[in-house]
Order: sequence, then C-alpha cells, then structure tokens
Amino acid sequence: MTGTSAILEWGGGVPLGITMDLLTPKIADITAEGLSLSGDLTCEELGLTEADESIRGTLAVGLDLRSVERTICVTGVVEGTAVRQCVRCLKDFDDPVAFSVRVAYEREAKAAAPAAKRDDPRKKKATPAVEMEPEEQNDELYHYAGDHLELAPMLREQLILVSPMHPLCTEECLGLCARCGKDLNEGPCSCAAEPTSGPFQVLRSAKTKLRGPADRS
Ligand SMILES: [Zn+2]
Ligand SMILES: [Zn+2]
Repeated sequence: MTGTSAILEWGGGVPLGITMDLLTPKIADITAEGLSLSGDLTCEELGLTEADESIRGTLAVGLDLRSVERTICVTGVVEGTAVRQCVRCLKDFDDPVAFSVRVAYEREAKAAAPAAKRDDPRKKKATPAVEMEPEEQNDELYHYAGDHLELAPMLREQLILVSPMHPLCTEECLGLCARCGKDLNEGPCSCAAEPTSGPFQVLRSAKTKLRGPADRS
C-alpha cells in the first residue's frame, strides 16, 4: 500500500482516490469507522533535518486514524532505511527501519474551551476510575488544535525514539585501532605485531624516568 501520492480511504477500505496531504488530515474526515492514510514521505515532508536522522529515499507510512469519543487514535506502521554512522568504525551504513505507531491525539484544552464546551465535567468527577483508564494504555498522547491533525511532529518524534543511541554497522564490528586508527574490520594493523615500539611503551618508559627522582626523596 505505498505510492507516490497519499490515498485517502474511509472505513470500509473503499479508495476514494482523493490525493491529499497525508500529514495533515482533516479532523472532520476522521470518523469512528476510521480513516486510512498511506504514502511515501521524504525527510523534507516530515521536517526531518540531517541532525535528526538521515533517510535513504522515502519512508513508507501507513496509518489508521479512528475517532473514539474525543480522542483520535492513530495506529500504523512506518518502514524505510536510515543512514547511520557506526560508533565503532565511524562508517555510514544502511539501517532498516520498521516500527509501529500507536498514539492518541486529544484536542488542546485551550482551543477546546470556546469551540466545544465540556458538557460532562461533573460526570467525570463522579467517576474518577473512568479517567484513569486512558493512562493505563501505553498510547503516547499528542494534542491537536484547529481542524487538521499535524502528523509530522509525531512521526518525527517516533522515528527519533526508535533510533539506536549507539548504532553499530554489525554487532561484531571491530572498530578502529586506538593507536593507528586503522579499520580493524579490514584486517589487523601492525600495532599488535610490534608491541615494544608502540606509543604506550614510549609512555611507560617516560613515566619510569619521571618517577625516578621522586622515589629517591
Ligand atoms: Zn562499524
Ligand atoms: Zn593500529
């Protein structure tokens, strides 16, 4: 279900063929039956900078949006390829990215006050147990204002959340030699073969010389 444009579908899965901005669906289009969105997104469309994440090509995004009372539940999958730098050998490598999204959007309290009046504040107070329920779910909560949902900030955040703190090209990556900087994945360097002439040996003998007069006093 990926294409160059976003296809809008309603609940029953009947494609209406309407091309629209995948990242800013209209709140009015999100019904209890659900709204399915899918498309391929570029870093620019997501507002991702090089500092956040480097994506090769596009990210395939498929989302289901469903309105449940006043909350919009968003579930779906994001797939693509990130370009990361290995922390050991410092080489760039392609890292497949695939994660599921499960978040909830609630109308921003300030914006809600004049438009949609809260008709059941007393009812909520009388049943605090009901209020606890959404917190038991692990859905991350986002907010929306106006008549569109802003999906890009949420997708950016989810993408960054799944990024490894210490990316490795492979688990077995040997990294660079601490002495000569050679990439040890390409073979051993000569440092190990000549231990006596290495800089550590020089340091050791320098230390001994320094300690010499101090020991006598
Ligand atoms: Zn590496
Ligand atoms: Zn070396």
